[in-house]
Amino acid sequence: MKRARNFNAGPAALPLEVLQRAQNEWLNIEDSGMSVMELSHRSAEFEKIHNHAIQSLKDLLEIPENYEVLLLQGGASLQFSMIPMNILNEGQRADFVLTGSWSEKALKEAKKVGNTAVVASSKDEKYTFIPKLEDIKLNEDAAYLHITSNNTIYGTQWKHFPETNNVPLVADMSSDILSKKIDVSKFGIIYAGAQKNLGPSGITVVIIRKDLITNNENIPSMLNYSIHSKNNSLYNTPPTLAIYLLSLVLDWAKEQGGVEKIAEVNGEKAKVIYDAIDNSNGFYKGHALPDSRSHMNVTFTLPTEEAEKQFLKEAKQAGFVGLNGHRSIGGCRASIYNAVPLSHCQDLADFMKTFQESYKATEAQAL
Ligand SMILES: *Cc1c(COP(=O)(O)O)cnc(C)c1O
Repeated sequence: MKRARNFNAGPAALPLEVLQRAQNEWLNIEDSGMSVMELSHRSAEFEKIHNHAIQSLKDLLEIPENYEVLLLQGGASLQFSMIPMNILNEGQRADFVLTGSWSEKALKEAKKVGNTAVVASSKDEKYTFIPKLEDIKLNEDAAYLHITSNNTIYGTQWKHFPETNNVPLVADMSSDILSKKIDVSKFGIIYAGAQKNLGPSGITVVIIRKDLITNNENIPSMLNYSIHSKNNSLYNTPPTLAIYLLSLVLDWAKEQGGVEKIAEVNGEKAKVIYDAIDNSNGFYKGHALPDSRSHMNVTFTLPTEEAEKQFLKEAKQAGFVGLNGHRSIGGCRASIYNAVPLSHCQDLADFMKTFQESYKATEAQAL
């Protein structure tokens, strides 16, 4: 069977076992004689799948009792608006740490809702690092502090999270949720579009501390956490197929041994590729500073644009998919989410070495 070595940034690789299980159950889910897409979202069969997905997330991330898990639509991008609409009040400010394009977008939307402030940023240094925790000073009127835990485009990742005391910490974890153990109790809200580490696009996970769900009837129903919470995320028709696939990915994550085991493998995967960069005598250059390197998105450049083009072309011919950097910054990027196997990362590292040698040889010949 042909199976790509898929380094796409999102939508991204899904575990083969999940796809195979979905295929096996495709025509007859839960012995219903229907596919999952044909079930009523009010049926017992679907409700079981829906609740199983939510419970699996609670189990895997050890989510405390005083948090709720919501499954919403609109992508992580809609959360950029929903969060300030729900928890940013008059007389308060939303504090932001800017670490890349996604935090900029989150800030842009929050500004439309209320007052905001940037309390730390690495923008002037091309977002090559995560600001030091001691450099983050919250405003007294902060309603919350927003961070992006993994910067999908620049390839940086928070290794420790700031202590915010009573101010809720809000994190966009779209590209690293479930990739390692986190202490959920440190956060007010965690949100993530599913299409990087959790499943297909179409579903967004929101983990929210219950006291942040307030009953403000002026917020449109579909944008109101309280409405979704009261209805167990079944206020309107949910993306049933996406939720089903999410539940399968979570079952798979449990079978892998849970987040700690997954984090271990992710560390090995990242090391293999960063080693290829570090051992290349400067031929490959990592974008992120070493202590801010992401275990999910490895970003790097080659000596010239021409070399990059050639690299991407040959990589494609060799069966690697999705290695071009984001259109906004160029370069190369290998996204190595949970579902990307270690062997694909080893293949990529080998390919990088081989390419470097052959490129140098061609260059030497041309001189
Ligand atoms: C992909 C991504 C988003 C956007 O997600 P959508 O579901 O497309 O809205 C937001 N934040 C981060 C960190 C991402 O990686």
